[in-house]
Order: sequence, then C-alpha cells, then structure tokens
Amino acid sequence: MGVPTCLSSDMDAFILKYPFTNEAKRGVDRAGIRLDDLAKPENKDLVIKAMDFLEDLVNRGERARAPLLSDPINAVLVHFLAMAMAAHLNSRLWRRIADAESKLFSRNLAKEDAACISYVAREFGIRIEPSGRVVGGQIARLFEFGVNVWDYLKAMPRNDPYWALGSRPLIRGYVLVNRLDLVRLVEETVERRVIDLINSFNKERELFVKIMEPVKDRLSNLQERLSIKYEPVNVKVTTRYPPCIESIMKEMRSGGNPSHMARFAYAAFMVNALTDYDGLEIDDAVERIINDFKTVADFNEKITRYQVEHISGLKGGRNKYLPPSCQEMNTLGLCPTNLGCGTRNPLQYYAKSRLTIKNTKEEKQGS
Ligand code: SF4
Repeated sequence: MGVPTCLSSDMDAFILKYPFTNEAKRGVDRAGIRLDDLAKPENKDLVIKAMDFLEDLVNRGERARAPLLSDPINAVLVHFLAMAMAAHLNSRLWRRIADAESKLFSRNLAKEDAACISYVAREFGIRIEPSGRVVGGQIARLFEFGVNVWDYLKAMPRNDPYWALGSRPLIRGYVLVNRLDLVRLVEETVERRVIDLINSFNKERELFVKIMEPVKDRLSNLQERLSIKYEPVNVKVTTRYPPCIESIMKEMRSGGNPSHMARFAYAAFMVNALTDYDGLEIDDAVERIINDFKTVADFNEKITRYQVEHISGLKGGRNKYLPPSCQEMNTLGLCPTNLGCGTRNPLQYYAKSRLTIKNTKEEKQGS
C-alpha cells in the first residue's frame, strides 16, 4: 500500500491535522526535542498555548478549536503538553478531553479521500480492505471498506445499536462499512489512544512539574472551577441566578453603589457563568459585564473595563478569577440566604439552575 497524497503532497499539513499519528511522533523525534527543553524560557509560549488549548477542550468539548500554529512540531508539542496538563485534572474529565481531541482529528479525516482514510486507519491498527477485495457484485458497491471483525469489535462505539455486529454485513471475517463509519472507528481509536496517553502522563507527573511552572496557578484554578461545576450538590433552585448575585444585580440596576467586593463577586461570577456555562467567547462576556455596570451610580468605563478584563484573565496572568466561596460571601454580608442554598460556591447554584430551567422547558415542550 503506497503513501497517500494527503501525506506525500504536504507532510507538514498532515502532521498539523493528525498530531497523534506515527508521522507526528517521528517529526518530534527528528527535531531532537527533549523534555528538559520544554522547561526553558524560550518555550514558555508553547506551554501557555497548551494551557489555552486545554481550557478550550474542557470548556467547549467537541466544539473546541485546534491550536492556531503553523509549525507542525510546535502544534504536536502543544497537543501533548495539553494532555500532560490534563493528567493533573480529575480523571472523570479525561474522557471529555479525549473525546474533544478525537473529534478535532476526525473532522479533518472526514474531508480526506479513501486512500488517506485507509492509511490513517491502518496506522491506528485497524486492518481494512477495499470492499471489492472482500465481496463482489452489488454489495461491494454499497460499502467502501471491509474492516477486520476483531478490529471492528475493538473500535466500535459501545452501547449504540447502530454498531451492533448483528446489524452489519459480515463476510469472510470482514465487517462492511462506508467511509464515514470508518472515520468514526478511527475517531474512537484516537480517543482511546489519547486516554492511554493521559494515563501514562499521570504516572510521570513529577517529570512535568518544572515545565508547567508558568501555568501552575491557571491549572489549579481550572481544577477548582471544574470541581465546582461537576461536584454533585443538592440545591433548591428558586431563581435563575443565585440569590446573592440577583441581589447585587438589583442594586446595580437601581443605580445603587455596590461595595468593591460585591462588584468583584458579580464580575467573577458572570465571567465564569457566561463562558464556562453559557458558551460565550471571553471578549463578548467582558463587554456584557461592562454593560451591566453602566447603571451603577459612579460608573467609569475605563476603570470598569480594566477591572473586568483583569478578573477575566485578559489582563495580568491570564488567570480567570473565581467568585468568592459561599462562606466568604456570607462573611462579607453578601449572602442573603445565610448559606441556605447548600452550595459551596455561587457557580454551583448556576450549574443546577441552568439544568433545572432546561429540563422544565423540555418537559413543557413534551407535554
Ligand atoms: S448560599 Fe452561596 S449561592 Fe446561595 S445566596 Fe449564599 S452565597 Fe449565594
């Protein structure tokens, strides 16, 4: 089997699109980059880009964007560094991260020709034949590939009747599939490879401590944000926004003069709610928050912009601040329920209220 055009015509473009292939690994080996090199100051930007990418994978899931880099080796390093950072997050998130990575991979693969898809599938250990070599006549024209049945069973998505072996033509040890099905099988295999990779990084976490120094605070902030988001809590939802935030909102809208800490809590809550939960881009979230402050008695656009951009991580250390915990809010006199929501951070309330509102809407539509 020869080298497909997608690889022979532009090796750099191939590596940029498919960072978990053997070609990408060989490219990094050829560049002679050692782990120690990544801790050098000149590589700090790569480490920061990997952190940006990891945040995008976690926050946007399958809508995440590939890192914007033109150098293929740097792009591969950013993917691998992001996975090394993922090893520091709760293992419950590894599947979400690997799924997002595998979807970036398969979105590109789905645009390639049959020769390229077959090549990449084989690289990932999926034995395939053109369907014409497995069977003749009409049926060979209906399907493009035959996948070795054992490899099919290893790669197929679980718990989905569409992939059940009983509903597929199985001829001479090959399961017949079309092009997009083969891309999906590769996607599943990439996902497993990425999870294995994160697992292996997890066993060698101490090797990366020095490399991750520039993003240490961002990484623990992300871990905290995620534990707030996914920690199960029993909240009694009465309003869309937590009562503390609603109360600050009310004061702002009526032309009041909220305290410095109330303003900080509002901006930090909103920037996380709008980006991590509602899916807004950070710049749009910042504009919306600045707009919310316009009704405050002593509004000053320049000062507000500086402060909101700082809290959002657009200025300073790129660290997006979390709102104070419920305990802190209560101590500051900003918790109208006297810790009555059963949450440890106002964002937990929002995670629950969004779900409750969504479920109520779906119930209404269904009835
Ligand atoms: S318990 Fe927490 S979420 Fe609820 S009002 Fe108080 S500070 Fe806000």
